[in-house]
Amino acid sequence: MSTLNPRQQEAVLYTDGPLLVLAGAGSGKTSVITRKIAWLIQEKGVPARRIAAVTFTNKAAREMKERVQSLVERGQTRGLIVSTFHNLGLRILKQELTASGLRRGFSILDQTDSKEILKEILRQGESEQDLNAVDAVQKRISDWKNELILPQEAASRAEEAADLRSAMAYEGYSRMLRACNAVDFDDLILLPAQLFREQPRILDKWRHRIQYLLVDEYQDTNGAQYELVRMLTQPEGRFTVVGDDDQSIYAWRGARPENLARLQEDWPALRVVKLEQNYRSTGRILKAANTVIANNPHVFEKSLWSDHGYGEAIRIAALRDEDAETDWIAGDIFHRRLQNRLQWKDFAVLYRGNFQSRILEMKLQSLQIPYKVSGGTSFFGRGEIKDLMCYLRLLVNPDDDNAFLRVINTPRREIGPATLEKLAGWAAKRDQGLYHVCDDFALGEIMPGKAAEKLRAIKQWLDEKRRACFGHNSLQAIHELITEMDYEGWVMQNASSPRIGEKRMENVWQLVRNIQRMLEKQEEEDDGASDLEAVISKLVLMDMLEQQEEEDDSDRVQLMTLHASKGLEFPHVYMMGVEEELLPHRASIEDDNIVEERRLMYVGITRARESLALTQALTRKQYGERVDTIASRFLEELPLDDLVRIGEGFEKDEEAEDRVAENSIANLKALLD
Ligand code: ATP
Ligand code: MG
Repeated sequence: MSTLNPRQQEAVLYTDGPLLVLAGAGSGKTSVITRKIAWLIQEKGVPARRIAAVTFTNKAAREMKERVQSLVERGQTRGLIVSTFHNLGLRILKQELTASGLRRGFSILDQTDSKEILKEILRQGESEQDLNAVDAVQKRISDWKNELILPQEAASRAEEAADLRSAMAYEGYSRMLRACNAVDFDDLILLPAQLFREQPRILDKWRHRIQYLLVDEYQDTNGAQYELVRMLTQPEGRFTVVGDDDQSIYAWRGARPENLARLQEDWPALRVVKLEQNYRSTGRILKAANTVIANNPHVFEKSLWSDHGYGEAIRIAALRDEDAETDWIAGDIFHRRLQNRLQWKDFAVLYRGNFQSRILEMKLQSLQIPYKVSGGTSFFGRGEIKDLMCYLRLLVNPDDDNAFLRVINTPRREIGPATLEKLAGWAAKRDQGLYHVCDDFALGEIMPGKAAEKLRAIKQWLDEKRRACFGHNSLQAIHELITEMDYEGWVMQNASSPRIGEKRMENVWQLVRNIQRMLEKQEEEDDGASDLEAVISKLVLMDMLEQQEEEDDSDRVQLMTLHASKGLEFPHVYMMGVEEELLPHRASIEDDNIVEERRLMYVGITRARESLALTQALTRKQYGERVDTIASRFLEELPLDDLVRIGEGFEKDEEAEDRVAENSIANLKALLD
């Protein structure tokens, strides 16, 4: 406790009513949460299993858990929930299975899965146009779900034709998901909230289960999450939420920073604590962050200070092109690490979009600098790999409904949602997997003969493939599987360019080669019984491990998007592509939503503890052409006296260096180094 400042102590000690900690970056908000959990367990005697803390990313949840574990004795954290909002929702659904209308082993669809289903539903619509709108419809449905609006209400509220069409699709989509015993990501919040609304007994149970709730990054909650928190903590309001409106960067995904203000209305007894000391960054980095964000309008006034010393100047490097840009970053990391005896993991490179990481990755590879990309699409996360994996999973486990749902229309077999819904209804009645009932004779009675025939045919074909795969030449059978369904044709047809299509097929063949290698190894080890099954189980495990790999904290340079970096901190931070149209992003410029981009800039700057460098490529390749870029407007908002400019366009900017030196004589030496 003694290491906390008085404001932080107040926030930890106050447990009698609702509490909001509203403060800028690096002021110890997350620290308040972890300390408070420890305080509740150790001093207030609240059993750990009665406490829940939620945040937004798995990485943040993991870090929070680790911090708590370092504060309390082992064994004392048993039953403590520290998870993302979505994982908390999942936990509730799993425990309230029947009440939420789900069956055991329900599938969780990711965005690409749910888009395929939505496409099928839109295909049933009258006009061709419908299909082009699939992204917009998906977004609309997600927005509704994030505001706890159910299909019927969406339809009755719709004012335009397009809205009404989306609402109809929403209705069909929801029915389809229910029938197939599947939920999507948004459902993980929507369904528990709906359950709590409709079944007070269940809500009571969970209120008892969670006696104290803590929420980090509160500014990023959406309407549904707000409601979930509100219901769970009524009537006493035993909660602590912490947030920073300047770091709200998920409005496009339905987050509502105004939830911070709404709290005060909904909870008149709300106590608000503001923190003002920043413990993370040097004075200069903090000043840069403050001056940039001052350009946004503010509801809550905050001021941050730091006593970490003024620190080295912020470097702005303008390089010839993206190659030179990544070259500079990689070289700088290399030298700094050597010079200052740092570790690779002391460095982070942040960017606006995932696509920006590729060229940097190549550069780091060529210099043999170990790195880790967080949050990008991994091998098993690629659509084509998922497709093939689902086939393989279904081959070894016909009960895998999740895999079946992907397989059935990959490639497209014109098996529509109405058919699938009926199939799913029948399977549920029989208490069997979807695959199993595909050739039930009774299907002919509940759906058009042609539809039933299609299902029977695909089952027959898959049965055949299963036999072949478990026969004496599994590998050949897998090759046959891929060619017989003309998977390549399907991939090429769906790819935006032939090159991308070819790349995807390369990935598929790479997976096949891996299987071959694993099969060969398996044969050496075993007597040969059901090799394929063993190999596929291993692959599924690898898939899971790859997801977990994020968790390992070996010594590597960290690469991630600005969005993914929220809540984290690193000694040395590089932000690349600080250019108009990248940051701020072109879409935001068009929508006139610069304020959110500026908050993103603020998040990026405030990740840095000791040094910060912002880079710009003066030219960039776009759609095969080299174009000149324009420096981001945010660079102009930085305090001039704290910058050094580096790069082609600038001979040595002595004047700037003088200014910086004057500004901080103490750091003169470091600067000249
Ligand atoms: P963000 O807004 O980026 O999420 P935050 O407000 O959650 O930041 P923390 O991550 O909790 O801030 O804290 C930032 C850093 O300051 C951490 O390294 C933390 O250990 C340190 N810190 C927090 N409070 C104190 C304190 N009272 N004394 C010393 N260090 C502290
Ligand atoms: Mg935090």
